[in-house]
Amino acid sequence: MRLSRFFLPLLKENPAEAQIVSHRLMLRTGMIRQQAAGIYAWLPLGLKVLRKVERIVEEEMARAGSIQLLMPTLQLADLWRESGRYEDYGQEMLRIKDRHDRDLLYGPTAEEAVTEVFRASVKSYKDLPLNLYQISWKFRDEQRPRFGVMRGREFLMKDAYSFDVDEASARKAYNRMFIAYLNTFSRMGLKAVPMRADTGPIGGDLSHEFIILADTGESAVFCHKDLVDMPAPGHDVDWNDLQGLVDQRTALYAATEEMHDEAAFGEVPEDKKLSARGIEVGHIFYFGEKYSKPMKATVNGPDGEVTVHMGSYGVGVSRLLGAIIEASHDEAGIIWPESVAPFDVAVINLRPGDEACDAACEKAYAALTAAGRDVLYNDTDERPGAKFASMDLIGIPWQLIIGPKGLAEGKVELKQRATGERQTALFDDVLNQLI
Ligand code: ATP
Ligand code: MG
Ligand code: MG
Ligand code: MG
Repeated sequence: MRLSRFFLPLLKENPAEAQIVSHRLMLRTGMIRQQAAGIYAWLPLGLKVLRKVERIVEEEMARAGSIQLLMPTLQLADLWRESGRYEDYGQEMLRIKDRHDRDLLYGPTAEEAVTEVFRASVKSYKDLPLNLYQISWKFRDEQRPRFGVMRGREFLMKDAYSFDVDEASARKAYNRMFIAYLNTFSRMGLKAVPMRADTGPIGGDLSHEFIILADTGESAVFCHKDLVDMPAPGHDVDWNDLQGLVDQRTALYAATEEMHDEAAFGEVPEDKKLSARGIEVGHIFYFGEKYSKPMKATVNGPDGEVTVHMGSYGVGVSRLLGAIIEASHDEAGIIWPESVAPFDVAVINLRPGDEACDAACEKAYAALTAAGRDVLYNDTDERPGAKFASMDLIGIPWQLIIGPKGLAEGKVELKQRATGERQTALFDDVLNQLI
């Protein structure tokens, strides 16, 4: 992408409405634009990151055996009347009437919708276990939308749903999501801690929230320090038997405020006690027959009809962008982890119009693009200082700086955003390093 032809509406001033750094930086870098309280337009830079986060979620869901579908954002109220949640859900639900005076709602989650899909098509226990997920926009009419995408009203969520023939099998499904979540967040450079959680309006008896520790987080959390740096399990695991890995991570104390047990926390050694604030980026539930029973989602088992056991598994995809920025920034701006950066490399032309500079930049742009790197070519007429500042602000991991002085000796400069390290080397060597 040539910056001169991109749409990157950077803000010069810090927006007054932004109380936390991720919100401020997302507005300043032109990633998002608020159009109503908690409702955002995703501008090109923000959308690129959002898509990269989605890709990682999709890859990890596929590894865990979940299959993607897409359900409508508008749902019939009648479906929610079947589960009894239409009346229960309260003011967070946006209720809508169509021209025939039918009650619709903008889905805040999709247990009912997916259960309807399931019961219409799955008849035999032989088709289980099944895990279906979607990545789609949800709407919750939050009382206090704030902190940008952290607490939006319209937000992007990955929601998966598991269907199993009995509780033992459903717990395996739960474990697969548990491990997939640890891997997902770790690939985004985040340290997510699974914590015992309240099940809220979704209901059920087994639940964990995945929490990123951050002072600006809205949840108060309590945990054993060793959980924070425990590495993600990775992909070389036995997906059919994950209980040991899950036990390792649930044996140590970790709970959100609603589930906090002062006495149990008291048993954690003093130097290992961590009470902090955190951001909820994911939440998994096992709730058995809560929806399948009233909605009659059953299959034929070997000994007759059985009601399926279900779980649901949410990831706050759009919230993750805020969480990643909270975890990775400095005074100059965002520091994107390479896995989700909007561009891999910025090619900075220090003197557009100079024949040698233009030719070298074009060559770098073409070669890196051909190698599959996502390149932002800064070909604008701005001063070098302004270019450095804006590329730092938007947080591109590598900056390839090309100017007339260096080129005279066949050299260019390479800067790494995360460390600030700069090296000057021969043009081709630097290119090879980036490819
Ligand atoms: P919160 O406690 O922050 O209100 P929640 O517990 O109501 O979240 P869940 O129903 O567990 O949310 O939804 C799954 C995930 O969706 C959450 O873990 C969170 O990452 C994300 N999410 C929920 N509400 C919002 C929101 N208003 N804006 C952005 N992401 C959200
Ligand atoms: Mg909520
Ligand atoms: Mg919550
Ligand atoms: Mg939750």
